[in-house]
Amino acid sequence: MMTQPVIALLGGTFNPIHLGHLRMAQELVESLQLSEVRFIPAANPPHKPAPDVGAEQRAAMVRLAIADNPVFTFDDRELHRTGASYTIDTLQSLREEMGEKVSLILLMGSDAFTKFDTWHRWQEIIQLCHIALVQRPLTADEHAPDVDHNLPKSLGTFLHNHYTDHGDDLHSAPAGFVTMHHITALDISSTEIRNTFQQKRSARYLMPDSVIDYIQAHQLYDI
Ligand code: ATP
Ligand code: MG
Repeated sequence: MMTQPVIALLGGTFNPIHLGHLRMAQELVESLQLSEVRFIPAANPPHKPAPDVGAEQRAAMVRLAIADNPVFTFDDRELHRTGASYTIDTLQSLREEMGEKVSLILLMGSDAFTKFDTWHRWQEIIQLCHIALVQRPLTADEHAPDVDHNLPKSLGTFLHNHYTDHGDDLHSAPAGFVTMHHITALDISSTEIRNTFQQKRSARYLMPDSVIDYIQAHQLYDI
């Protein structure tokens, strides 16, 4: 019988965190029977320009957003490292802490996965964790290319080699599998929320009220 906990990791810039992140995590808790989802804000995201809002404030918003859910936890290890926030370093650090047997699952939207082969030491990542993919809604913007189409060849091969339809595989092995899960499609992105604030429109019902209150109190995003 499986006795080890299964811990999911959700990394991101969270500039700011929104209901798309939270709902994705909640639905995967249920479909993958997760004991915990760790939200891990990136201090210095390697593939984005430096965020206008600092890591401490992005992290504070994550903390507020997850405060009322005991399954959601906060992990600030990337805030304590200098240089680019590489996932491989985070995984190695988690493995040192938790040992080899715990199942770790990296949660990822399809937009992130289509660029996965540009991540630092990307081929080593799957030796340290599983990856659970969700489709991001297909919109007119650059988000969410379809995971099944237009993948670079290297990622197509990667998917072929690691893909499983059996959720149990992610419980019985500590790392090595990729799965894909259907979730309620919420076409919400931090980019659109930043635009909303800049245009002096309301972001209610796109993100928790506590996070909106924080943004107002600290006058983030030019509001
Ligand atoms: P930005 O627009 O600034 O890139 P974002 O909304 O994409 O922000 P990130 O912090 O970049 O948010 O995303 C972190 C992770 O959460 C990524 O794996 C991303 O694919 C996933 N994610 C973000 N929004 C959603 C959503 N609405 N539905 C499903 N997954 C999402
Ligand atoms: Mg993004």
